[in-house]
Amino acid sequence: MTKYIFVAGGVMSGIGKGIASSSIARILKSKNYKVTALKIDPYINIDAGTMNPTEHGEVFVLDDGYETDQDMGNYERFLDETLPSINYMTTGRVYQEVIRKERNLEYKGKNVQVVPDVPLEVIRRIKLATEKAKADVAVIEIGGTIGEYENILFLEAARMLKQQHPLDVAIVMLSYVPIPNTIGEMKTKPTQHASRELNSVGLQADIILARATVPIDQKRKEKIATFCNVLPERVISAPDVESIYDVPGNFEKDGLGDILCDVLGLQKRPTDLSEWQAFVAKAKNGVNKKLQIAVVGKYFMSGEYVLSDVYISVIEALKHASAHLGTVVKLSYLDSEEYEKDPKKLEELQKYDGIVVPGGFGSRGVEGIVKAIEFARINKIPYFGLCYGMQWMVVEFARHVAGFADANTGEVAPDAKHKVIGIMPEQKEKMVRGDYGGTMRLGGYPCKLHEETIAREAYGEDEVRERHRHRYEVSPDYIQKLSDAGLVFSGTSPDERLMEIAELPVAVHPFMVGTQFHPEFLSRPLSPHPLFLAFINAAIKKHT
Ligand code: GLN
Repeated sequence: MTKYIFVAGGVMSGIGKGIASSSIARILKSKNYKVTALKIDPYINIDAGTMNPTEHGEVFVLDDGYETDQDMGNYERFLDETLPSINYMTTGRVYQEVIRKERNLEYKGKNVQVVPDVPLEVIRRIKLATEKAKADVAVIEIGGTIGEYENILFLEAARMLKQQHPLDVAIVMLSYVPIPNTIGEMKTKPTQHASRELNSVGLQADIILARATVPIDQKRKEKIATFCNVLPERVISAPDVESIYDVPGNFEKDGLGDILCDVLGLQKRPTDLSEWQAFVAKAKNGVNKKLQIAVVGKYFMSGEYVLSDVYISVIEALKHASAHLGTVVKLSYLDSEEYEKDPKKLEELQKYDGIVVPGGFGSRGVEGIVKAIEFARINKIPYFGLCYGMQWMVVEFARHVAGFADANTGEVAPDAKHKVIGIMPEQKEKMVRGDYGGTMRLGGYPCKLHEETIAREAYGEDEVRERHRHRYEVSPDYIQKLSDAGLVFSGTSPDERLMEIAELPVAVHPFMVGTQFHPEFLSRPLSPHPLFLAFINAAIKKHT
């Protein structure tokens, strides 16, 4: 019998519903249940791909090419599993399917209604994802906050599923319990209100995760229990933690796994988090060897706040590799536009053990990126370029080593004489048609590795599969010319037409590697990515 756990957020957004859902999934997996995780996002967009990073943070790409919310990345990292696109849905995606079915006469002449037909489609997708994963338990995170208009149909889907399977659905509410400075006391009233909002849509929380800066005391647990209609032991402490990877262990301190088993009528198997906790310990033990890594990119402001969420998978991948190599990384987010304004500022890069240029789009800050890459090349600082970071590494090499002074990418300078990075022909047709949504080269593709290269050595394999999200590529016209000048294309598509990895020989530079794909999407705490390991290894060598 399949079990379903809905995770909904009360009081406010941004308190870690994604990490809470991922941690629940990990705990149940550690109890030897087969678990899958789904995210439902309230927006109308069909996928996350067309949204600006300031709106949405990172766009995570699944193996099958669907562009999703970053929480899908958290699920994959915590579960150490690859998830398919059926595990992600938006309002737009759900409506698109309902309307398609209606046009196709699949409702057989019926009056198609927002309720129940939209929630029924949500339920159909949840069940399909669960079947596909052969899961015992599905964890379903409902985006947005309880009490909003936008996610009401998803809460209705949870209610209807519970009505169909009363013993197989658990409702978990993640709530925020503030401690206002002026009062100095934990206040439960916002949680009580959120609980009533949930009741008003016909749902009752079985478990409340009480997010706060500190662990919640017994008195507040009892207060929440009394006013929110749950057992006191089912109010779980969820204090701020040093690392997101601490959360599963923390929940287990309050026995969350067994409580979930009780609610769902599952057998209480022992929780084996040993492998997970070993990683958490390793991530903390490396503090004596602190590497300084610069992430040079364009930064996104939301009012006065910098959004580093945009590069979340990159940041996590760096942490995974460092933990496994017994170090920790101190990341500095450096704005490439600063190097355009004042090239003398580049000198600050000298103190870093490694430089990363992550993916990106458009022309803002790109000349500053080229300067940073040139600095890394000349000063032999380990460099790792991801997608856009690889394309600009190729441009920098073309300009300053291969002698194409005006080299550029077609994305930024369509009229440049030497477009060493050009649009892929099939992408060009799509652009002409204005067909933008979900049409990049997306998802997993094979990459052949060439002998005696850093990449081949790092992977220890002849062919790998990596995830993509791009419209531009190294122009076929320049592959030979750049190779003749000393750039090594160590990874290519199996037919050798698309350049997937570029690097400089170790005799020239200790680690100068760029990938057309996004290796960060495949890095997981328990299985760090080979290229991130190789990069951090090079940074350790530079550090010592
Ligand atoms: N803008 C580049 C392209 O479309 C790189 C994309 C990326 O970094 N994800 O090819």
